[in-house]
Amino acid sequence: MGYRLSALGSGLLALGVGLVLSSSLLFAQQPTDVPAVTVRGQTYTPRSILSRNMGTDEDQTTAFSPHKIVGNIYYVGTRTLSSFLVTTPAGHILINSTYERNVRTIEKSVTQLGFKFSDIKILLGTHAHGDHQEGDALLKELTGAQVMAMREDVPALEAIKPGGKAHPIDRMLRDGEEVTLGGTTLTAHLTAGHTRGCTTWTMKAQDGGTDLNVVFACSYRSPPTVTPDIEAEFNRTFKVIRSLPCDVPLGDHPAQYNMTAKHARLKPGAPNPFIDPANCWVEAEIQEAMLRAQLKLQQGAKP
Ligand SMILES: [Zn+2]
Repeated sequence: MGYRLSALGSGLLALGVGLVLSSSLLFAQQPTDVPAVTVRGQTYTPRSILSRNMGTDEDQTTAFSPHKIVGNIYYVGTRTLSSFLVTTPAGHILINSTYERNVRTIEKSVTQLGFKFSDIKILLGTHAHGDHQEGDALLKELTGAQVMAMREDVPALEAIKPGGKAHPIDRMLRDGEEVTLGGTTLTAHLTAGHTRGCTTWTMKAQDGGTDLNVVFACSYRSPPTVTPDIEAEFNRTFKVIRSLPCDVPLGDHPAQYNMTAKHARLKPGAPNPFIDPANCWVEAEIQEAMLRAQLKLQQGAKP
């Protein structure tokens, strides 16, 4: 260095460097990934849940082996973003187009299962975030499907405009409304919190002579800051979902219902691992514990 520093100057410089170092160390050590909650022996943090849900970019865009779940319900999504195909003699219903760049991947999975992509007549969604519903416009363009959405999610959906394309909405639904096609009826349940119109879908499926209650859950993950409005929405939501009859829990991210492990256990003659009433509300339990812990943390942070 060509600078000549006085004893005082270098002392101040050292002090300054020391302060910068200690404050950046402090920042690095700050436990920003809080709170941590333990549910059924597993510990979760906001970051661990997010990475469990999303995986890598490749996980989000690589097809997971398309498969039958129960009855007329099939998985046609990627490794970490769920898309469900409900087939009927009058055409099909798709839940979640996911990212626009995944629409052709979903088409391939539908075709691989022996169904026609162009037979999709109705497109539904779980919530107005791009990773679940960005592909709605393209999917409608390719299939002519009617797009139906919970009215509380419509403003957020209309803000999702890949390449400037307007978000299609053909029918707005209210809490408890039914969508019927070819003898299959899906019921839309408003389960707000993660988004204003987060929708949990239920239907009955017939499988091997048994009637099964299927629940396509929305995400129940709370945003980093829980406002009183959001808290009230979640309080209602956690009550509502636990009141739904459930034999087959599904979710808009496969990790929410342990898809990979269950899929690996699918074997002809063996019990269907997707029929799992004992674990219907595990995801709700995790997210509710996280919400309560977050609220405590927020209250503690107040002066
Ligand atoms: Zn989301």
